[in-house]
Order: sequence, then structure tokens, then C-alpha cells
Amino acid sequence: MPETKLSITPALTIPDFLVGEVQSKLAYVDEWIVNARVDPSGEKIDLDLSQPAAAERAGELAEKVQRVVASLVEGAFKPKIQVLEDHLDRPAPYTADPHTELLARGEISQEAQGIFTLGPLVTRLVEYFESRFRELAVSFGASPYRFPTLIPARYLERVNYFRAFPHSLTFVTHLREDLDAIDHFAQHAACDEHGLNEPAGSFAPIQTLLSPAVCYHLYFALADQPLPGGQVVATAVGNCFRYESTNLTSLERLWNFTMREVIFVGSKDFVLDNRETARQRMHQVFESVGLAYRVESATDPFFIGEFRKQSVFQSAFQLKFEIRARLPFKDSTLAVGSYNYHQNFFGRNLNISLPDGTPAHTGCVAFGLERMAFAFLAQYGLQPENWPAAVQVALQERIE
Ligand code: ATP
Ligand code: ZN
Ligand code: MG
Repeated sequence: MPETKLSITPALTIPDFLVGEVQSKLAYVDEWIVNARVDPSGEKIDLDLSQPAAAERAGELAEKVQRVVASLVEGAFKPKIQVLEDHLDRPAPYTADPHTELLARGEISQEAQGIFTLGPLVTRLVEYFESRFRELAVSFGASPYRFPTLIPARYLERVNYFRAFPHSLTFVTHLREDLDAIDHFAQHAACDEHGLNEPAGSFAPIQTLLSPAVCYHLYFALADQPLPGGQVVATAVGNCFRYESTNLTSLERLWNFTMREVIFVGSKDFVLDNRETARQRMHQVFESVGLAYRVESATDPFFIGEFRKQSVFQSAFQLKFEIRARLPFKDSTLAVGSYNYHQNFFGRNLNISLPDGTPAHTGCVAFGLERMAFAFLAQYGLQPENWPAAVQVALQERIE
């Protein structure tokens, strides 16, 4: 009888350092897969399917899964994780999953997968952490910017985004400027269980996407010219969009989230020194809010084809460090921010030049605001009287 569960033995055993990566990429393998679990042994993959798969379909699914495993695992070697700070054992009193209590109290409500409304408690916490991140920006004398939520497709193409992260793109369109098309849409558009059932041919070609990051907008604003004064420090907060499919769960992983970035553009030393200074300053901040976390080297979530090459490159050159906060309820960690160095990638691709004519280097310090609030709540719970004094006082001032 066709089954809605499928168990697959990977032809190559998945090493422990790739179990999470394979698991997150399985979400994009086939629309029938509603849930995928890689056994910690790396020797079994269990799939839940949206409908029963007969033998032929099951074979097809297994073949696609094997392909993903092979391309991530073949020739991979364990990256050396460099730990810059370790405060994971800082005591944190709460051990439950805050998601359940947040929902029960109406502090978050889900509009759709990965899309949440935040209530007053979470909003105040987000604003509090935002204020601490803004203080970091001020300490560097960063110039404030505001960037749009939309980003032109041509921009992302210029920095190879389509090749690196195709799976997480979010496209934007509008109705064609055509009276008949608009009238037809107005008459017939309807939502069913699959979404908006638009009449064929209503939409204009895609020229725009929802922005996946904040700092790209600055690099495009600086493109094709000499860098003013030879160095720039900027800051902005913005909506970011990454479609993470079945990995979208709670505030941990959202489709629409908010990032505060401090961005450095200049010489290699300027960027690397500032990135390091930012880490040291944030050390004080995280200490004052009592966060249990560690800072360690990491790689970006590249899609399957690019993953191996790019992640090896990123680890070798220590381009990314993540601030990983402890989530006691699941005995794991979650990245609440990252310290990034892009070498002269954007300077070269976007033709941003230093006074000596060479391409500028860039780096950014990026904080996920919802994740920061979520990780804090996972460690301290929803009762402000159990929070570290600094946070309690700051929130009290916000209410008065
Ligand atoms: P992860 O590996 O957890 O997906 P990332 O490497 O994609 O994170 P960055 O590109 O470094 O994340 O983005 C900076 C910060 O933005 C992250 O540290 C995190 O706090 C936040 N962030 C990234 N993706 C999401 C998301 N889908 N939902 C909520 N916050 C996110
Ligand atoms: Zn950035
Ligand atoms: Mg990451």
C-alpha cells in the first residue's frame, strides 16, 4: 500500500557536522515532503509526505534525496570551528519552549508560515535590544541609513545571489498595466487552499524581490564610484526576507524578520579591526543582559550546488563568526547575530574603489531582532521579575 512515510538509507553516511545542513536542505527537495528528519547517526532519513507515494514516486523521491546527500557529503571534511568567546554555561533559569507560552498569552500570533505579529512584551524586548545595537553603531559614529524593503533583481544578480541562495528568494510582482488583465483579475481572483488563484498571464515580469539582507543596499548606493573619504561606517535596520520552507517554525526562523546592521567599508585592516572591536563591545552588552552564548566560526547557508566550495572558502578565511545563544529547551544554540567579512567581493563586483584604486573591502555586524528576543525569552522566560536587573529596569522605563 502507498505510504505517507518514507525511510531512506543514504548511500553515503552523513557526518555529524553535516546533519543539520542536510536536514535544512531536504525542505527544498520535493513539494510532497512536509517534514524531514535526519537521524543523528547520519544513516537514516525519515520523510513525512503530504500524500501516499506509490513505488515509482517513492523511488523518485529517494533518488532526489540521495542526490542532495551526495552533493553535500562527497568530499566534505569537518570544518575547524574556532571559538572566540564561550559563555554558554552562564546560568539561565528558564527551560521551557517560550513559543507555547507566547502563543497562549497572545504575545505572538501567526499570520502564516514564518509570519508573526508581535505583542507588547516581545515588542518592548525587541526595542530594548535594538537600542543596545544602536548604541554599538553610535560608538563607531556610524551614519544612519534607511533602506527599502524591495530590491531590484539586477542588484542581486550582480552579486551572484541567485546562484548562492536561490532557495530562499522571495519575488515581487504586480498586475500588468493592461485594462483587460486588471478587470479580469478583479472579477476572478480568489483564494483557495493553495493560495491566490490568479488568472494566467496577469502578472508583470519580475523586476524586484523582497530584500534578503540590509547591507547590500549600502554597497549598491556606493557602487561604481570611489569610496567617499576612503572609508564608511553606516548603520540601518530593515525588514529581511528568507523563504526557509518547512524550516520556518517559531520566532527562531521567520520568512519576514528584522535585522540591525553596522556596516564597514574601507581597507582590509579597517574592516577587520572594526569587526573585532564590535565583537569586544558586544561582549559587554551580552554580559549585561545575562545572555548564555558563544561566538564561533560559521558559514552561510549556501544552496546545494554552491555549498561545499563556498563554505570551505568561508571557513578557511574566517569570514563569518556567529553569536550563538543557548536554547535550553532543546539543548542547542541559535544564531542571534553574526560578524561578517566579505573581503573585496562587493568592492570588486560593484566597482567600489579605495583612494589607491583597489577595490574596497566590506564587513558587517548583523543582529536578528526577533531571534534575539526569542533566545532571551528561552533563557529567562516571560516573567520580567526573573530577568536580569538591567533588562527589567530598561523595560520598566519604556512602559512609564
Ligand atoms: P542561520 O544559519 O541560522 O540561518 P544565517 O547564517 O542565515 O543564520 P545571517 O545571514 O548571518 O544568518 O543573518 C544575520 C542574523 O539574522 C542571524 O544571526 C539571525 O539572527 C538573523 N536571521 C537570519 N535568518 C533568519 C530567519 N530566517 N529568521 C529570523 N532571523 C534570521
Ligand atoms: Zn550584512
Ligand atoms: Mg548560519
